[in-house]
Amino acid sequence: RTVYVNGAYLPESEASVSIFDRGFLMADAIYEVTSVLDGRLVDFDAHMTRLARSARELDMAPPPGRDELLAIHRELVRRNGIDEGLVYLQVTRGAPGDRDFAYPDPGLAPTVVLFTQAKPGLADDPVARRGIRVISLDDLRWKRRDIKTVQLLYPSMAKMAARRAGADDAWLVEDGFVTEGTSNNVYIVSNGRIITRPLSCEILHGITRRSVLRCAAEAGMAVEERAFTLAEAKAAQEAFLTSASAFVIPVVAVDGVVLGDGRPGPVAARLRDICLEEARAGAI
Ligand code: PMP
Repeated sequence: RTVYVNGAYLPESEASVSIFDRGFLMADAIYEVTSVLDGRLVDFDAHMTRLARSARELDMAPPPGRDELLAIHRELVRRNGIDEGLVYLQVTRGAPGDRDFAYPDPGLAPTVVLFTQAKPGLADDPVARRGIRVISLDDLRWKRRDIKTVQLLYPSMAKMAARRAGADDAWLVEDGFVTEGTSNNVYIVSNGRIITRPLSCEILHGITRRSVLRCAAEAGMAVEERAFTLAEAKAAQEAFLTSASAFVIPVVAVDGVVLGDGRPGPVAARLRDICLEEARAGAI
């Protein structure tokens, strides 16, 4: 696989970053994951706009511009022959000579790393046809989840706890209300309405969330942006989640409570179809 590090395209075995990199030492880094469908980047501009916002919120130097990043994304997709998969992009505050809590000189060059991951079958995912089972866990993450940083240890712990419990993923709960999944935004369908938590610092402003809500509105589906409780989720007709790498995935059980008839619900299935169609048509 060819990867990109600070201006160079290299075989992955030759790519490296400093042990003093603040991404490595302090999780002082931001990232984006853009999916690739039919060899095309999905929702690219929205991902780069969010990257720039994450940098601003952390007083990081502005990341490389949209055109430069687009050229790198496309080059990696081409060189690695990605038809279905994703491009991962990470920008760190750079590698000063020492470890220090204070930010280094703002003139320090950031570390920019990109790589691809092939995911054949991304669009025709058997998991989407089956649906997933989730457990609930306390949301123990920091309170600026709107900034897409690489502090992903708690989401990893939550994912492992879900696996140990025989489930696929975890829904995180704060003050009785569901915030989001370990790496996705979450939705329930109740009285025929799609309910999802409104944007705030408590959740990541999902790019897929935005596109899916637009598709839902265009299809005449009712959407209510409000927080919902775990109890509401367990009583819902159906549930689903969204992320760039998974599009729309139905959720068929919460804490062992089976939703509806235990099969993916019609709203999630329809939204997944619309979303994939729009992405294929270049409309997302
Ligand atoms: N919430 C969290 C915590 C995430 O990690 C992700 C995926 N990165 C999402 C939501 C979904 O965001 P997007 O649709 O932009 O991938």
